[in-house]
Amino acid sequence: MSVEPATAITIALTKGRILKETLPLLARAGIEPLEDMEASRKLVFPTSKAGVRLLILRGSDVPTYVQYGAADIGVSGKDTLLEHGGEGFYEPLDLGIAQCRLMTAAATGVAPRAGRIRVATKYVNVARRYYAEQGRQADIIKLYGAMELAPIMALADEIVDIVDTGNTLRANGLEARETIATISSRLIVNRVAMKTKHSTIQPLLDQLAAAVAD
Ligand code: AMP
Repeated sequence: MSVEPATAITIALTKGRILKETLPLLARAGIEPLEDMEASRKLVFPTSKAGVRLLILRGSDVPTYVQYGAADIGVSGKDTLLEHGGEGFYEPLDLGIAQCRLMTAAATGVAPRAGRIRVATKYVNVARRYYAEQGRQADIIKLYGAMELAPIMALADEIVDIVDTGNTLRANGLEARETIATISSRLIVNRVAMKTKHSTIQPLLDQLAAAVAD
């Protein structure tokens, strides 16, 4: 038997940009963590609102927690949602924060190679779909970081990565080529929780939507 009240909700966040930009929105809905989440090593935080707790997860784990209902709500970049696939949750609100683009990039001035190319990325599902849609043959190589290094070291012809100012690409002799998607952080809600906890979740969605619109 669950000891959680039926209306208790768990919201999954990630440290860094998303936490920094989401906390002011949550505060507008009366939800404030009882300690400094960025400074703490804890992963679960009670809040000023009874029955609402916050989780700190790795970015790519947020959609997974919400998909299976281990968290009711999450805040996740659209890039992460595209890579995850989006099963098991709704995406009712664009928070308009952490905006950037998911792009292809290659060495500056180097003409696109004809025929089969190698593409390094942590977004393997997105990349596979994108190059297939473009009718370009691509071997996708999974990397976990420092994608910019791959073309320089001849591991790959192109990369698929997040671009904001383009400074990271330029600093590594690369240039952005094609935009795959424009990205911002989205609020996601577990499909079952949206029904079973509707009376708690809907007012929260309304308050967050109003905070975003301001
Ligand atoms: P920039 O040099 O401004 O183009 O930023 C590029 C790097 O910053 C990327 O490789 C990402 O790791 C990171 N970055 C920038 N914006 C975001 C964002 N909205 N979400 C996640 N990572 C980002």
